[in-house]
Amino acid sequence: MSSAKDFFTTEQQERIGEAIRKAELNTSGEIRVHIEDHCKDEVLTRAAAIFHKLGMDKTDLHNGVLFYLAVKDHKFAILGDNGINTVVPPDFWDHIRDNMQQRFSAGQFTEGLCEGIEKAGDQLKAHFPYGKDDKDELSNEITFDQH
Ligand code: CA
Ligand code: CA
Repeated sequence: MSSAKDFFTTEQQERIGEAIRKAELNTSGEIRVHIEDHCKDEVLTRAAAIFHKLGMDKTDLHNGVLFYLAVKDHKFAILGDNGINTVVPPDFWDHIRDNMQQRFSAGQFTEGLCEGIEKAGDQLKAHFPYGKDDKDELSNEITFDQH
């Protein structure tokens, strides 16, 4: 099975980056995708560590969102910063996660991820609308494990 770095083809990575760019035209929220092979910890614990490591906790409105995937261990998580968690209901990510899970089970990883990103942008719009002075605070490129 392919490892994190080549799990998605270059073309698929571009589609994912484009999905992020588009989603961020709906919301001031900043979306990132991080992919690695293994996740030994509880998946949300690991996602939180990556979130911190990528400096995603430093956005102005604390509205960063991380899509984390451990491709060999078949784990993934969606993690939002505190600015989001304090204003949205606890089940905010459930629908997005369920939809992604279905897609992933069918082997449709690019579609699942792009749809998740798109839906995140749609849902965040109500709470964190896109402003005309918006900055791209966090890069839209996928990051990979660095060990
Ligand atoms: Ca932005
Ligand atoms: Ca961005």
